[in-house]
Amino acid sequence: MITVSKLNKKFDQTTVLESIDFSVNKGEVVCLVGPSGSGKTTLLRCLNLLEIPNGGTITIGDKTVNFDQAPPSKKEIAQLRRYSGMVFQGFHLFPHKTVIENIIEAPLVVKKANRKTLIDKGKSLLEKVGMLEHIAKYPDALSGGQQQRVAIARALMMEPEVMLFDEPTSALDPQLVKEVLRVIESLAKEGQTMVIVTHEMNFARRVADKALFMDDGIIVEDGPAKEVLSQPEKERTKQFLQLLD
Ligand code: ADP
Repeated sequence: MITVSKLNKKFDQTTVLESIDFSVNKGEVVCLVGPSGSGKTTLLRCLNLLEIPNGGTITIGDKTVNFDQAPPSKKEIAQLRRYSGMVFQGFHLFPHKTVIENIIEAPLVVKKANRKTLIDKGKSLLEKVGMLEHIAKYPDALSGGQQQRVAIARALMMEPEVMLFDEPTSALDPQLVKEVLRVIESLAKEGQTMVIVTHEMNFARRVADKALFMDDGIIVEDGPAKEVLSQPEKERTKQFLQLLD
């Protein structure tokens, strides 16, 4: 589903991702873990071309974009982006739209889909994330956990092949973390392909098929999540996990 090869990203002259290689199979859940500043968010944003890499290739589904020569065209960006849906740390809902308006907005504008059909689909996704009863509320009437669940439903509306989560629970109070993780776990059980940046190690051990441990812009260790997150081989991974436990 995703193949990343020799991906590089610089901000000005500073290399923040160096020769990143990894792949994600259909239906797999991959967690990106590592210390702050190691490049996890930048890598995730590159997959959605919110950041444009300086070299290497990304393939998602049937679309490959090569960044070695020239930056991608707008058309290529749109084509690659179509495969993924992104959920951010800070929800990013439209404050002046209700829950249902928030989630039908993108397909209404991008796909010019029928409003009634979208509302029906939106309702079923809101039910899936446990938010149907809040359908007519505005974001500021919701808790952070509820807003994040709406943001997940909104991303699912576009039927992405891959869901990308950037620290989806790190802005939440501890008691709200579980309700969001439960929704993500239920998506995993349904076979949704996902890449998740997270510091929730127990969640990652439970849900992820693969884990990539990043440090200083490189992938230090990758493999089955249970191995990387419970019995890592590399010293740097061991040290990182010890700090969290
Ligand atoms: P992580 O998600 O692992 O905390 P990031 O991907 O956010 O790491 O950051 C990786 C490195 O890139 C850091 O050194 C960070 O300061 C730098 N960085 C991230 N975004 C930008 C940006 N827009 N401009 C300049 N430097 C950035």
